[in-house]
Amino acid sequence: MALTFTDIAALPTLAEVDILVVGGGTAGAVAGIAAGRTGYRTLVVEQLGYVGGTQTGALVTPMMPNQIEGVPLNGGIDAEINRRMNDLYESGVWQDGNRGWFNPESLKWVLEEMLLASGAQLLYYSFFEDVILAEGQVVGIVVTNKAGRSAIFARRTIDATGDGDVAVRAGVPFASGDPETGVNQPFSVRFHLGNVDLQRLAAFLRSLGRSEILLEAEGSQVPLLHTAMVWGRGWTLEPLFQQAVAEGVLLPEDGEYFQVFTMAGRPGELAFNCPRISGQVDGTNPWHLTQAQILGRRAMRRYLAFCRRYLPGCEHAYLVLSAPLVGVRESRRMVGEYVLTEADVLEGRKFPDGIARNNYPIDIHRPTKDQRPGLTRLPPGEYHEIPYRCLVPLGVEQLLVAGRCLSATFAAQGSVRVQSNCRAMGEAAAVAMGMSLDAQIPPRQVDGVQLRQKLISQGACL
Ligand SMILES: Cc1cc2nc3c(=O)[nH]c(=O)nc-3n(C[C@H](O)[C@H](O)[C@H](O)COP(=O)(O)OP(=O)(O)OC[C@H]3O[C@@H](n4cnc5c(N)ncnc54)[C@H](O)[C@@H]3O)c2cc1C
Repeated sequence: MALTFTDIAALPTLAEVDILVVGGGTAGAVAGIAAGRTGYRTLVVEQLGYVGGTQTGALVTPMMPNQIEGVPLNGGIDAEINRRMNDLYESGVWQDGNRGWFNPESLKWVLEEMLLASGAQLLYYSFFEDVILAEGQVVGIVVTNKAGRSAIFARRTIDATGDGDVAVRAGVPFASGDPETGVNQPFSVRFHLGNVDLQRLAAFLRSLGRSEILLEAEGSQVPLLHTAMVWGRGWTLEPLFQQAVAEGVLLPEDGEYFQVFTMAGRPGELAFNCPRISGQVDGTNPWHLTQAQILGRRAMRRYLAFCRRYLPGCEHAYLVLSAPLVGVRESRRMVGEYVLTEADVLEGRKFPDGIARNNYPIDIHRPTKDQRPGLTRLPPGEYHEIPYRCLVPLGVEQLLVAGRCLSATFAAQGSVRVQSNCRAMGEAAAVAMGMSLDAQIPPRQVDGVQLRQKLISQGACL
C-alpha cells in the first residue's frame, strides 16, 4: 500500500509545501483558493490541464439549487465564484434561486485566476500515484508525470480526488455503492451540440404545451431552456422518442434519461446531461471508465441524429465536445469521524461543528425506471448541516477529505454531492488545515466549533 521514506529515497523531490491539495476539481480548486489565502505555501496537483474537475472536465454545468426561498445556503468562496461568473455573464440565474448554469470554459479561467491570486501554486498533468506515510501521518505523495515519478512533501494534505485516492492508499476504510446491491450510481458522459437555433427550438418546445423554457437571463442572448425525457414520466418529447426508437434512430435505453440545458454565454449551444451509462460503473475501475467513453460516444451519435431529425432548430447541429472526464456521481466514500446518514439529511440535523448547510434532496439515479424512487426531499424550508468530522478520515493523521468522497452513507451522499456543497467542503478543509498549522495540532484536533466561527467570519452561511 502506502510508501515510506525508504521506498522513495531514490525519487527526486518536486516540491515541499505546507498544504497540498490533491485534485483541483469542484472541492479541490476551492480548497486551493482558501489554502492559498491562509498564507501557507499551497500546491494543487491535478491530473488534467485545468481546474474544475467534474464541473469543467465532465461538463456538469448546471449547479443544482441549494437554497431556501431563493436564499442560497452556501456562501463564502462559492458565492464569490458565482458572482464572478455572473459578472462575466457566463452564468445564468434560473428560477428557485439556482445561481448557476455556467460556461465551463469561463469557470476554468475564473478558478485558475482565483487560485493564482490566492498565492497557491498549480501543478497540472500530474497524477497522484501513492502516499508517503511516516508513523501514521501523511507526509507527502508520489506523482507521475512526463518527468517521471517524483515526491511532493507536505505538512498537511487534502484529498479532493473525488474518489478518495489518497485516503485509500493511506489505509482509510471506505464504502462504495448501494449497500443493498453494491452497485454505484450510473455514470453520465456529457456532451455539447453547437449551431442550434435556440429560438426555434424554444418555440417548438413551447408548442408541445409544457413550460420547459425558464427565463431569459438578464444581459444574455440565450433563452435558458431545459427539457428532458424519461420513459413514462409524461414528458412531451416522449412520442418523438418512441418514433425515433421505432425508426431505428435511438435505442430504448436512450430514453432512460435524456436531459438538455442551455448555457449562459454560449448562444447556439446545448449541454446534454446524458448519455447515462449503467451496468459497469465503478469510477475507480479503468475498464469501466474506458467502456463508458466508448458507449457514450456511440450514444452521442444517436442523440445527434435524433436532434437533427426530430427537433426544429437542430437540423444543422454538430458535436462540439464530448466530456474528457466520465461523470462519476458516486464511488468511494471515506469513513470518517462521523458518517452522515439519510436520517441526518431528511430530519434536518444540525451539528455544533457544521461546516455547510444543505437542502438538496436525496437524488439517486437508478439504472432503470423500475428501480427509481425519484427525489426524496427535506421538509419545506428545512436544511441539515454537514459536520466537520465528515472530512476527518479514520486512522491517519494530517489528512482531510473534501468533495463527493466525504464520510456519508450512500443515501446521504446522494444529497450532499452537489457542487455548492463540494465547494463548501473544500473551503472548510483548507481553513481547518490553516488552523491546524497555526496551532501546530493535527487537523483531527481542530475544534469544529471554532472552525465554524472562522468560516462564518469569512462569509459562510452558517
Ligand atoms: C453526470 C453528473 C451530473 C451531475 N449533476 C449535477 C448538477 O446538475 N448540479 C450539481 O450541483 N451537481 C451535479 N452533480 C454532482 C457534482 O457535480 C459532483 O458531485 C461534484 O462536482 C464532485 O466534486 P469533487 O470535487 O468531489 O470531484 P471532482 O470535481 O471530480 O474533482 C476531482 C478532481 O481530482 C482530479 N483527480 C482525480 N484523481 C486524481 C489523481 N489520482 N491525481 C490527480 N488528480 C486527480 C480530477 O481530475 C478532478 O479534477 C453531477 C455529477 C455527475 C457525475
